[in-house]
Amino acid sequence: GNGGASRFRRGGPPRGDRLPAPRKRFGQHFLKDTRVLSSIADALGDVRDRTVIEIGPGRGALTDLLVERARRVIAIEIDRDLAAHLRARYADRPHVEIVEADVLQTNLAALAGEPYVLAGNVPYYITTPIIFHALVQPRPDVAVYLVQKEVADRMAAPPGDKIYGALSVNLQAVVGVELIRKVPPSAFNPAPAVDSAVVRVVPRPDAVVEPELEARFRSFVLAAFGLRRKQLIRVVRTIASFDAERAGAVIAACGLSPEARPETLTPAEFAKLVRALRAEGL
Ligand code: SAM
Repeated sequence: GNGGASRFRRGGPPRGDRLPAPRKRFGQHFLKDTRVLSSIADALGDVRDRTVIEIGPGRGALTDLLVERARRVIAIEIDRDLAAHLRARYADRPHVEIVEADVLQTNLAALAGEPYVLAGNVPYYITTPIIFHALVQPRPDVAVYLVQKEVADRMAAPPGDKIYGALSVNLQAVVGVELIRKVPPSAFNPAPAVDSAVVRVVPRPDAVVEPELEARFRSFVLAAFGLRRKQLIRVVRTIASFDAERAGAVIAACGLSPEARPETLTPAEFAKLVRALRAEGL
């Protein structure tokens, strides 16, 4: 029989010419649309002198572009077969480093060791955690993500919008969010169930919350949107365990209405409130 040949192949690393089928558990949807790939790379700006970290390089569709454009590329891939494939593929490109790791367990700034920019067609099962992970300081000078359209819309939503929420406030307090383009499911293989979008995130020089206050700000904003239908007076009373008088005084000192709802407050107004509450010992 021919059992010898198949026994020989079983187990070992994938052959260079054969990649494993896309793995659902890693959110693998590979980009095949070259215009979308270019628009992600273009949105990074001129990277000739820069270090680019790529999240989830997969089969290397975006990596190929970055490798041609950037001074240095570090690509973080959790799938060991794909990481091995990419290592072999860029073996003769000394400015390319493939890191087999979970991006959420990776200190991006330490890995770069210098200022860097970030790009990724990110796995959709951890989009929001990745975006928050990349807010840790020092932040990338630019980050370009391909995400679900619905997440892109929430990232960029203005105060008062139906989908304005904790993600919008926490991001917009410290970064600018720009929608670059929509991307249909047909741009991927396999096609995801939802529309996607390319977004660019750039640190705000006029961030409304100072670095020392960011963690406090984030948890307050999360708690406030847990009470998004409530009036501000109730929100502050609940979160700070203040009585009506004390909560009312803090809100008034911020120039806010006690009847306002969290979904109408700007990031700057949230920051004022967090600062005032901190001055009150919270
Ligand atoms: N960049 C490729 C492309 O555009 O064709 C692949 C994008 S695919 C949507 C997401 C990639 O992220 C996959 O290669 C997947 O294995 C990888 N990935 C999933 N979870 C990860 C994690 N926690 N850390 C690093 N990479 C991860």
